[in-house]
Amino acid sequence: MAMSRRAVFVCCDGLGRDWVRPDKTPVLEGLKRRAAWCEDHNGVFPSVTRVSAASIATGCQPARHGLQGNRMGLLEGERIVVRDVGAPDFRTHLRRATGRTLRTPTLAQRVADAGGCIAYSNVSPGAAYFLDPDNHGHVHHRDGSFAPGGASLDALAVTHDAAGDWAMTERFCEDVLGRARPAVAMLWLCDPDHTLHGVPLGSPDHDQALRGAERCVEAVVRAVDRLRAAGDDILMMVGSDHGHETIGDVIDVEAWLSANGLADLVESGDVASAGQGTSALLYATERGRGRLLGVLDAIARQPWAGAVLTDAALAAAGFAAQDGVVAAVDLARDPAPNPFGVPGRRWVAYEGKPVPVGSGQHGGRGPDETRPFLLVDDGGGAGRVGRATSLVDIAPTIARHLGLSLDGFDGRPLERS
Ligand SMILES: [Zn+2]
Repeated sequence: MAMSRRAVFVCCDGLGRDWVRPDKTPVLEGLKRRAAWCEDHNGVFPSVTRVSAASIATGCQPARHGLQGNRMGLLEGERIVVRDVGAPDFRTHLRRATGRTLRTPTLAQRVADAGGCIAYSNVSPGAAYFLDPDNHGHVHHRDGSFAPGGASLDALAVTHDAAGDWAMTERFCEDVLGRARPAVAMLWLCDPDHTLHGVPLGSPDHDQALRGAERCVEAVVRAVDRLRAAGDDILMMVGSDHGHETIGDVIDVEAWLSANGLADLVESGDVASAGQGTSALLYATERGRGRLLGVLDAIARQPWAGAVLTDAALAAAGFAAQDGVVAAVDLARDPAPNPFGVPGRRWVAYEGKPVPVGSGQHGGRGPDETRPFLLVDDGGGAGRVGRATSLVDIAPTIARHLGLSLDGFDGRPLERS
């Protein structure tokens, strides 16, 4: 008999919870009438896509799965080298530096012999591949797709925009939900995140990106309803990974470190900063550690610094001061509204590219970026999950539905309140 107990997760990248409201997201509002709404759903730190993807895939906080950022420092030949996790070959550099990818198993690994996992993603290749970095299941992406064991498949022939999201969704509904029918099916849309990185929050372009994502969600809901009518027991979860905040200004953290007494350590690769949008991770080798610690108080006094987090504060955020990370800086926030009345302008970390001031960004601990949304449609009708929930609760909720072990997750299965 074919596997009839299945789970579907749809991620609307970058759709903060406060944007789910009748005038902006009628489809999600409709889903609220048949699903449980997570009232206090939280992102992970840093609130960037690749780290969020690894937390959703493993049900673990970054402290345990070990993927630290969208950009991450690796110790390579005695130097800290900051690499872009979004690059298709990042996993190779990570394996070379540390001997592994993620430190905790993914859902794809947990279901490899129990119905399998298929993920379709239209975000960066890094964020797609960290859903299943060791190829236990299928991952489909524009830059290349992989079968279990790592064999290459045809790349997903879609564009990195709303049209690509829609084309991917049509294929997902037909090929994955309708035909392949794996135990776990994941669809990760690039919008509204992709659009928001170039337009203001609350703008007509933002609204249009929400409509595009909603059209995709609606198609998945229709497909799931057809399969349920045919007898499949499907847990459907629709959510996001983080929200967005407005870029107010930009700070080059490494340049600041160099100008404030650490130029030799930055030059020698003993101190480095990996920007995460509205936050930054500060790395040091053993040689650089003491002098980096010595400037943290001065950093905390800078207008661009919100909070400087070290050991205990990082641990409380689900992050660990390990693998070279000494501290993290959550960049400052000014509550002033943008031209569309959306409050909060943030400093962002310079990452080597021009920064579109006034557009959306995320990565830190601001109010919108840390509040993703999550709807759990388990066939039980409208309801609520009142406790504080997190991205790490998604995988254990799916595992429980499939009757798998709940060992090793940081998260807990979601229960209606
Ligand atoms: Zn994202």
